[in-house]
Order: sequence, then C-alpha cells, then structure tokens
Amino acid sequence: MTDRPGKIVCVGRNYSAHAKELGNDVPKEPLLFLKPPSSIIREGEAIRLPPQSRQVEFEGEIGIVIGARVSHGSTATAQAAIRGICALNDVTARDLQKSDGQWTRAKGFDTFCALGPEAAPPTDLKTLTVLTRVNGVERQRGVASDMVFSIPELISYISGIMTLEPGDVVATGTPAGVGAIAAGDVVEIEIPGFSKVRNPVTNNV
Ligand code: MG
Repeated sequence: MTDRPGKIVCVGRNYSAHAKELGNDVPKEPLLFLKPPSSIIREGEAIRLPPQSRQVEFEGEIGIVIGARVSHGSTATAQAAIRGICALNDVTARDLQKSDGQWTRAKGFDTFCALGPEAAPPTDLKTLTVLTRVNGVERQRGVASDMVFSIPELISYISGIMTLEPGDVVATGTPAGVGAIAAGDVVEIEIPGFSKVRNPVTNNV
C-alpha cells in the first residue's frame, strides 16, 4: 500500500466475545465509525499516547484494502472489490470512548491507526486469523469465521451508505482480549502468512 486511503471505515463489536468483554450486546446491524487518514502510521513508527487519555488500548484487526469503486454492491460485488488485506491496529482511547458518547476523538488521534503492508487476499477470507502481541506476549487471537458479519457482508453494507473507492481501508473489528498499552511497550498485529505491523509506544511530548 503506498497511497493514503481516502477514508478508513471501521466496524465495532463484530466478534461476540469482544462485545461481551466490554459489556455490550452484538449489534443487529454492523456498527460503523470512521478514523481519519491522518491517524495512519506504518511499520516501526511510534504510537504516541495523548495527554487527554489515561487508558489507551490496542485493537488488532484484519484490514481490507478496496481495489474498485463499490456503491450499493452485493456481497459478490463486495468480495470482488477487495484488493488486499493488511494488519491493522485500531488504537483506542477507551476512557474517552466511554465519556464522549461517540467515538471520533477516542479513535482519531494521530498515530492511532497502524497499518501493515498490503498482501493479496486468500480465496477463502474466513480462514484469516489476526493476533496481537504486546512485548512478545500473545494477547488476542481471532479468526474471521467468528465474525458476526462476514467481510463481504460488511463491505456490501458499508457500500449502501458511502461509496467505497480504491485505496479505502475497512477495519473489520477486533476479537476479545483488548487491553491497555503504556510507554515502552511494543505492539505487534499479525495476520499470519499475510501482513504484520509492529510499533513502539511512547508518550506524546
Ligand atoms: Mg476496533
């Protein structure tokens, strides 16, 4: 992936075990929010903890890179529009997410979207696994087959609201096991066999 995406469309509570761990029900329809393209960092760049938050957490996710314009697409059209997959860290200020009532600030800080290199997608997207390690210790492991809404269903649904364009990224939700990060930690999100992104954590000074 070279260019900055026009938008990053994210899905909340798409694994039931993660919805439960934060005390939420699984939504009846995909729960969407956006991260700004200015939040993107790449391999090796630091996640900077903002002074406004006391609880910044990792969220390892399967990122989807769109390769063709999709508007009101079927699941088949959605699947055909996938250009690539990438490891993605939907870094979240959990305290601000709860206190603000909507998620723009909590999800939108600079450095809050780590993206790994783009890889060609497998034929069967349900086999994709995502895992998170903090300081080398595994903290999350999820399989796409456990998603509440499948990847093609998500892309189809999103395309009924906003046109997806080449280069746009879709973050497909995080599995259970989210947790806080602190300055000095190193966070790694991996989609084994496809993509990995590793970032140190620093204070924003
Ligand atoms: Mg997320």
